[in-house]
Amino acid sequence: MDNNFYVKEKGLLIVISGPSGAGKGTVCKELLKQMKNLAVSVSATTREPRNGEIEGVNYYFLNKGNFLDMIGNNEFLEYAKVYDNYYGTPKTPVLDMLDTGVDVILEIDIQGAAQVRANYPDGIYIFVVPPSIKELEKRITERGTESKEQLSKRMDCAYDEIRNAANYSYIVINEKVPVAAYQIASIITAEKCRSERLESKIEEILGR
Ligand code: 5GP
Repeated sequence: MDNNFYVKEKGLLIVISGPSGAGKGTVCKELLKQMKNLAVSVSATTREPRNGEIEGVNYYFLNKGNFLDMIGNNEFLEYAKVYDNYYGTPKTPVLDMLDTGVDVILEIDIQGAAQVRANYPDGIYIFVVPPSIKELEKRITERGTESKEQLSKRMDCAYDEIRNAANYSYIVINEKVPVAAYQIASIITAEKCRSERLESKIEEILGR
């Protein structure tokens, strides 16, 4: 699907949050298959790479010193400490993509999303939830990447995060990945058709 059908100007900023294990990453991968002109921002983190994670693809893996330097140089669009590690969105690549008309997804936690919202109220804020807490625990356990202690930390945070869902404009329940991706694609498509985003297009149609 070509998601730049009307707006040839700036891309849309799409923020996706949800508890660890809700399947945001998998849904975003599926979404990239369904929609053109869309990119997922690569975050920086101080967390250790998991098996199979690739530098520059999944994350930029930094040590704490380098991360703090980037904070000092104002190189992040947002950053937060999540489960004892720092995570942040490098600013320049995101702004460059938006400028060239590419829609950009930030897959970030609720603290980071609040920072972005303060600067980009125009963004699209989507919260992804699992069908149940039990299913969430099952998904994290099956992923096998977290220790028992990390799992229990992530489960505690999940309750707090899900309570925040109402602060987002859209909620997507990820029961089946293709359906959740289709729902997000539909949200993006509908947002592109909002009248306030198409004022200049109407002027163009009127030949003004
Ligand atoms: P994980 O360690 O499972 O990859 O990610 C842990 C949490 O950090 C997830 O909720 C994820 O959305 C969040 N996260 C990933 N990248 C960023 C980022 O750049 N900024 C913020 N604020 N959170 C992020």
